[in-house]
Amino acid sequence: MTTQYLLDFLLYPLQWLNFDFKKIFSTTWRGERPGMALVAKLFKDVDIPEDATLYHLDHDSLKVIQEGTAYFYGQIIKENGPLENCLLEKSSLKFFPHEVVLISIKNSQNELVCSEVYHGGQYWCRSEENIRSEINKLCFKARKRGLTIEEIEVAHTHPSLEVLVEYSGESKFIFNGLSKSDKETAHRIATFLDFPLRIKAITPSANYSMLF
Ligand SMILES: [Zn+2]
Repeated sequence: MTTQYLLDFLLYPLQWLNFDFKKIFSTTWRGERPGMALVAKLFKDVDIPEDATLYHLDHDSLKVIQEGTAYFYGQIIKENGPLENCLLEKSSLKFFPHEVVLISIKNSQNELVCSEVYHGGQYWCRSEENIRSEINKLCFKARKRGLTIEEIEVAHTHPSLEVLVEYSGESKFIFNGLSKSDKETAHRIATFLDFPLRIKAITPSANYSMLF
């Protein structure tokens, strides 16, 4: 557990005191309404007008949007598999949505070489310095075992909803793929590595990745 996780966890109940529940319940969901912890986080992060209609975007809708627009330039969008779902589960989406990170070394021998799952706060996980030192440790471990390293992957969760919001004849998308800061951090870390670095952001709808 990191200090950030503990701090966010302890202060989490205070957030509920400020929630505008009237506003949350005045909006309409098309399709299944996501869990309350994620809905509350959405309303905290984004200004959503009263009486808006919300559509939860799934992997297929995101792919259609990617094909028709330039929103996700350079990002590879894939459906979540067992690993991504396991990390989402560890992000406590129903109770206390927070980020978790897992660093792994992909190798030609297909052996499992990965870090523990680190828990961060609601909007932050590991520092760049921690990630770099963890990568070095794992690469050393892989080399010692005689493995051929192909790629290093830093996967982390973005425990936030992706939606289409419609209100007063207007509409806007809310996406949660790789952020500018994710890409900048990955770019800086990659310059110190001898292997390609994949950064991956996992949302409840899909996972987004880029190779540096
Ligand atoms: Zn991120």
